[in-house]
Parts: sequence; structure tokens; C-alpha cells
Amino acid sequence: MPRYEITIEKDACDGIFACLTRDPRFVEGEDGLATIDPDADPIYDCEGEVTDTERRVVATFDDDRIDEARQAAVACPTDAIVVEEVSE
Ligand code: SF4
Repeated sequence: MPRYEITIEKDACDGIFACLTRDPRFVEGEDGLATIDPDADPIYDCEGEVTDTERRVVATFDDDRIDEARQAAVACPTDAIVVEEVSE
């Protein structure tokens, strides 16, 4: 299973929320910008580590859903989302 990291750059995020419809782990945060909540997915149990700071959200997952995250990244009109495979 690939391990991958999703980054949302908050400077670039405009709160358009196209990402939410592609990957349910993306949610609206308290600041009105996108963040990631592994528990937000209504269908799959999902585990991941999320760090949400003033500048960016970084989430690491270890599952087979990298394509969903990539679709969210492609859907984002401001290119605020980066998805990268990482090694152990
Ligand atoms: S689609 Fe992009 S700009 Fe819109 S909320 Fe998601 S990360 Fe932010």
C-alpha cells in the first residue's frame, strides 16, 4: 500500500470546496478553508495523521485512496493541494 502525503497550502486555498466532492476526507475547517479529517468519511473507516497549522495542512495516509486525493488536487482551481507518495 502506498504511503502518501496530502498538503493543502492555506495561502492558495480560496474556500471553493471543489475538493470536498472528490474526496470526503476534505472538510471545511473553522477558518473557512479546507482541512482534512480522516473521520469525516461517511463510508470508509480511515486512519491518518493530520497536522493543521496556520500555513498548511499536512496529512499522511497509508491506504489505497491516493487516487481520490489526486482527484481532489486536480479539481482544486487554485492548485492548493499537493499529493505525493512518500517512502517509509
Ligand atoms: S478546492 Fe482548493 S481552493 Fe477549494 S477549498 Fe479545496 S483546497 Fe481550497
